[in-house]
Amino acid sequence: MTSRKTADLLVLLRSWLFSFGWSSLLCLAAVPLHAQAAELSKAVKEFVRVAGPRVVLTHVRVIDGAGGPAVEDQNVVIENGKIAAIEKGADVAGEATGTVLDLRGYSVIPGIVGMHNHLFYIVRPNLNAQRHFDDPVLVPQMTFSAPRLYLAGGVTTMRTTGSVEPYADLNLKKEIDAGKLPGPHIDVTGPYLEGATSYFIQMPHLKNAEDARQLVEYWAGQGVTSFKAYMNITRDELKAAIEAAHKHGIKVTGHLCSVTYQEAAELGIDDLEHGFYVNTQLDPGKKPDACTESAGEYTLEHMEAGGTEAKELIATLVKHHVAVTSTLGVLERDAGGGRPPARQAALDAMTPEAREDFLVLRQQRAQAPKGDPTKLWKNNLALEREFVAAGGLLLAGPDPTGAGDVVPGFGDQREMELLVEAGFSPVEAIKIATLNGAVYLGREKEIGSVAAGKNADMVVVKGDPSKQISDVENVEIVFKDGVGYDSKKLLESVRGDYGKY
Ligand SMILES: [Zn+2]
Repeated sequence: MTSRKTADLLVLLRSWLFSFGWSSLLCLAAVPLHAQAAELSKAVKEFVRVAGPRVVLTHVRVIDGAGGPAVEDQNVVIENGKIAAIEKGADVAGEATGTVLDLRGYSVIPGIVGMHNHLFYIVRPNLNAQRHFDDPVLVPQMTFSAPRLYLAGGVTTMRTTGSVEPYADLNLKKEIDAGKLPGPHIDVTGPYLEGATSYFIQMPHLKNAEDARQLVEYWAGQGVTSFKAYMNITRDELKAAIEAAHKHGIKVTGHLCSVTYQEAAELGIDDLEHGFYVNTQLDPGKKPDACTESAGEYTLEHMEAGGTEAKELIATLVKHHVAVTSTLGVLERDAGGGRPPARQAALDAMTPEAREDFLVLRQQRAQAPKGDPTKLWKNNLALEREFVAAGGLLLAGPDPTGAGDVVPGFGDQREMELLVEAGFSPVEAIKIATLNGAVYLGREKEIGSVAAGKNADMVVVKGDPSKQISDVENVEIVFKDGVGYDSKKLLESVRGDYGKY
C-alpha cells in the first residue's frame, strides 16, 4: 500500500507554457577569464559568457531576494567573485574598469537555492499505453544533464535531497567546485534513510536504530552534508539518525509517512518535504511506525488552515524550528484541470523515450485519487501560507521526479510561479526560493540575496519578475562566484539527454 502511494507521488505531473524569451545582450564583449576561486577547465569555459576580476552590471533592476521591493536602475559591481557594491545606476566606461554590461530591461535575482533538487530521473520499465509498467522502478543518475540544467535555470546552490549514488554525488560536487565540470554548488544528501519495506530497490532498507546510526556515521565520514528520511522509517530509526547527524552538525529532512509531522518534530527533525501533503496524523488506521494507505492525503483533506489541528501542528513546527519544503511543481498535476501544457524547452531537454513516457503518464493519475485533488491543493497552499505567517521557514524545490516533466531548473522556476499562485507576492516567492534556503543551510552570510559582500551568485533575467513572476523563466546569464554562465549554451549542451545520463 505504501508502494502504491509512492508510485502515485512519482507520477504527479504538471506542465506549463513555453515562453522563453531569449534575446541578445548587445553590450556583452568576449572577455578573457581571469583568476577565479578555481581555475576553470576548458569544458567549463565553453559556457562562460562573462568573467573577469571586475564586472559591472549597469542600469539593472535589483530584486534582492530578502523580500525587499525591486529597486530600479542600479549598478551591481562584481569583484573577484563577490558583490562589491550596489549603487545608483550610471554609465561606466568599459575596458579600463573591467567588463560592463548594459542591462536596461533586465533584472537580477539571487541564484536559486534549490532545496529538493535530485540528480536522478525515474524510469518505469516496459511502460505501455495502458500505463502499466514492470517493477522495479529505477532511478538512474543524471550526473551529466541535471547539473547543467540546474545552472542554466538559475540554480547556483542545491541540495540533492536523497541520493541513490552518493559517491557519484560527492565526486560531482568535488569536480564542480574544482572548476572541472559545470554545475551549481551542491549540498550532498546521504543515501535515503528508509525502513525495511520500500518501493525503491536502490535505497538502503534499515534494519533497526543501530543500523540507522551506522549509516549516518559512515556517510558523514565520507563527506555528505545532509540526510533525508523516507516513508517507511520507524521512530527509533529516525531518532537514532537525527542524533547521529546532529553530532556532526548535519541536518535531517524527511519525506515521511510512517512517522507523523508532529512525531518527527518532537524527535528533532530539521525539515519536512512536500509541504503538508505527506503528514499522516489524521489518516484512518494510522499505526505507529507504519505508513498508511492514504499516505497523508486524508490528513491534508481534513486539515484546513486556521483550524485547531493546523494551528497546533504549525505551532509545534515553529517551536521546534522545523522548516517545510514546498514542492509544488511535482504536485501541480493534482491541482485539477486547467494547467498549462509542458514547456517546450523542458520537453527539448528530454530523451525521445522520456518524452514519450511523459506523454503516456500525463493522461491520468496512476490510480483514482483518495481525496479531492482540488481541495488537497487548496489546503496545502493555505497551510504553507499559514506556516510562513506563523514564522515558519518555508523552502522551495521542484522534486524533479513525477511523470518526468518536472525538469531540473525549469522546475525551480515553476516553483516560484506556483508560490505566487499560493498567495505569496513575487518578491516573497523569490525569497523562499533563495534566501530561505541559504538560511536553512546556515550560509546566509555568503549566499541567498543580492547584497554587498556576498558571493556573486545571481541570475540575470529579462523583464521584471517582481511584477510578473513568469519572467523568472527568461534566464539570460547565471552568475556563480562572479562567473557569468550562458544559460542557452548550457541548455543546448544537454538537449535530448535528460532521461539518459
Ligand atoms: Zn524527492
